[in-house]
Amino acid sequence: MNTSEKAFYRHLALTSDAPMGISISHAEGPFFYSTENKRYTDFISGIAVSTLGHRHPAVVEALREQLDKHLHVMVYGEFIQKPQAEFAGLIASVMPDSLDRVYFVNSGTEANEGALKLAKKHTGRTKLIAFRDSYHGDTHGSLSVTGRDVYRDPYLPLLPDVSFFDFNDDAVLSAIDNKTAAVIMEPIQGEGGIIPSDPEWLKSVREACTKAGACLIFDEIQSGFGRTGDLFAFMGYGVTPDILTIAKAMGGGMPIGGIVSSSQIFESFMYNPPLNHVTTFGGHPMSCASGYAALKYTLEHNLPERAHYIEKKIRAGLSIEGVSEIRGKGAMLGMVLESFDMTKDVVGNCLENGLLLGWTLHSNTLVRLAPPLIIDDDVLDEAIEIIARAVRAYHK
Ligand code: PMP
Repeated sequence: MNTSEKAFYRHLALTSDAPMGISISHAEGPFFYSTENKRYTDFISGIAVSTLGHRHPAVVEALREQLDKHLHVMVYGEFIQKPQAEFAGLIASVMPDSLDRVYFVNSGTEANEGALKLAKKHTGRTKLIAFRDSYHGDTHGSLSVTGRDVYRDPYLPLLPDVSFFDFNDDAVLSAIDNKTAAVIMEPIQGEGGIIPSDPEWLKSVREACTKAGACLIFDEIQSGFGRTGDLFAFMGYGVTPDILTIAKAMGGGMPIGGIVSSSQIFESFMYNPPLNHVTTFGGHPMSCASGYAALKYTLEHNLPERAHYIEKKIRAGLSIEGVSEIRGKGAMLGMVLESFDMTKDVVGNCLENGLLLGWTLHSNTLVRLAPPLIIDDDVLDEAIEIIARAVRAYHK
């Protein structure tokens, strides 16, 4: 073991007793390289982060430019910092008129924490509605609306006044009432096993929220920034939330998150008292500079369209014996296999052959397929072939 490997196992607080433990040397485009100089194709994009691949030239250039100007200068919301203000403007320009402001934070879970507080303050209500198998993050508020008991139980009690309903089930509609502050949901559940919401059901949830005066929060932390074939999944559904949370791919590889909502709703954070929701590092100038460059590139090169193309290729190449279903939209896909044993075997086989796959948090028979959208045809074809060979090898 070299020094970093020793320190990793001895001094880094780990999240499980079985980390993948690949020592990273560098990463470029759709590839990352181990210190043993093995090349891997990244087919999960650091969990929906590296939509532009690794070290995209537009991102690297923006970071270099910002590095020469300034790093942190002041807590969020006081100074006019060009990368932050212009990134907010660019995000607002691609949103419906009602989503005209962005509050920058540092991560996905922090965006959801802020969104829940915003909905409570705006409505003056406390009741929260969420869905089974959802995943919204691991801080207390986000965990309170995450729909999987095994992750919640060790931390009870969590936030009060939260109820869970089945995803895509009408039972939720009658529960949305004039005590409800918010309904929080992923329009396409990610960790739950890549489960798209039913378009008609989603419209009914929107109508019920509007009628009850409850905020509809869409968590597009995983599905945003072109991954699903629309810039944001809600745009494909034609259903606009009151509050949108974003992160992951937002920073082009840098850490950042955001809450997007209307000027009217965001007033709750300005008054009674002022400064009732603040952050030191939210919207760090480096993250905003790279996020701006990443979004600009995504728009100029129509990466959502590329996600559709990737979906077609994957569906065509992996509709084979042994694969029960390919689920999801665009390049946010899940390949359903027959058992956990098969999933482990296929993922392990692909890794040996230089292709990184993974599974989702709440499902162990589904393999996550989420390549960078900049992946070119040769690399994509090769990856699909490696997966198909691994499935056949298990099945023979
Ligand atoms: N919401 C969703 C839908 C996610 O997929 C995730 C991360 N997997 C989060 C929230 C939490 O984001 P973060 O890890 O940046 O806190």
